[in-house]
Amino acid sequence: MLEVSNISHQYQNRNQWFRKTKPTQVLKQISFTLEKGYCLGLLGMSGAGKSTLGNIILGLEKPVEGQILFEGQDIYRLNSQARHQIRRDLQVVFQDCYSAVNPLMTAAQIIGEPLYNYEKLTPIEHKQRVAELLEQVGLRVEDGSKRPHQFSGGQLQRINIARAIALNPKLIVLDESVSSLDMVNQGQILSLLAELKKNYQLSYLFVTHDIRAALTICDRIMVLDQGELVYQGYGDHSIMESKHPAVQQLVHAILPEHPSERIRFQHQ
Ligand code: ADP
Repeated sequence: MLEVSNISHQYQNRNQWFRKTKPTQVLKQISFTLEKGYCLGLLGMSGAGKSTLGNIILGLEKPVEGQILFEGQDIYRLNSQARHQIRRDLQVVFQDCYSAVNPLMTAAQIIGEPLYNYEKLTPIEHKQRVAELLEQVGLRVEDGSKRPHQFSGGQLQRINIARAIALNPKLIVLDESVSSLDMVNQGQILSLLAELKKNYQLSYLFVTHDIRAALTICDRIMVLDQGELVYQGYGDHSIMESKHPAVQQLVHAILPEHPSERIRFQHQ
């Protein structure tokens, strides 16, 4: 469904006199594929190039080199009709659930916005669809009249997920979508994402620095280090065996769940 081939990217920097300096290479020859109904984890420490790659896949940042094929079409060479369709099929949920929403809108308006832009529903159909979406993400229909400040972080992320699935997309880029939540909320949102994936045959690109979250939901895992893919494997504990320093760094960033284990861990 998604084919990423030979993506390289660099950012142009400028000095204090606004003159161009040597560009920074942030992605080097990245290639991989993602099939329908699968969750692919894109892991890496901060600055590895994960968000840049996510933005390139979403069509937001044109790569210097390489191609992104979505269902066989190069997403940077589409006519306006095909681009309109791909915007439905490709959705994103960001980490910062608060800044992703307009604070003045109600939950129902936030979730209903893509429906207004893309579907021609009658007011009754629109209302029904929003109610359905609220229930699908574990919220109550009455929550539709509340505004963002009346929700917890976990609840607001559910609203962002409802908005992302409103148009029955094929691929969702989850950019650190559970990273700012506490462990309990993280677990609940990951279960919700897994359930939605199963029910709607969704594909996810799960961008994260958290190997534990990735192992909970991903079928396959890739690790990015300084713009290079340094590990590709199944979403199981075999990643723990990798000797690559960047993978080891991610593994060691996990804090053991029990505090006594944490003390032992810190002294290792
Ligand atoms: P990650 O998501 O893994 O933290 P990013 O893709 O955000 O990594 O960043 C990769 C590198 O690209 C970093 O060194 C970052 O400073 C740089 N970078 C990101 N966005 C820009 C930009 N718009 N202009 C210049 N450099 C950028």
